[in-house]
Amino acid sequence: MRFAGRAKTKKHGILLDGPVNDDGRCKSCNGACCRSFPSVDLSWVEYERLRDLGATRLHFSMTGHCKLIIENGCEFLADGRCTIYLDRPDVCRRFFCQDV
Ligand code: SF4
Repeated sequence: MRFAGRAKTKKHGILLDGPVNDDGRCKSCNGACCRSFPSVDLSWVEYERLRDLGATRLHFSMTGHCKLIIENGCEFLADGRCTIYLDRPDVCRRFFCQDV
């Protein structure tokens, strides 16, 4: 028996060496990567920047990476778009996902 419907496409995420600035990519997947991971590693400067932007789901660490918790969706994701696109963390800038 065959089922009619949309075929599922698997995605594979990688961290590139440098940033990718193309918010058009975000439109096509409705921010799937911003809802699919538990957290994003932050530098101290990024931690302070997101705190100043009003982030409420920050995790501070003296010994490891500070983190932005994005489990169940990043608080800066709205309508499938990053609302702090120009201030987003380096990991978000370098994240790239492709169909496999
Ligand atoms: S900061 Fe922006 S790009 Fe990064 S996880 Fe949140 S919504 Fe996505």
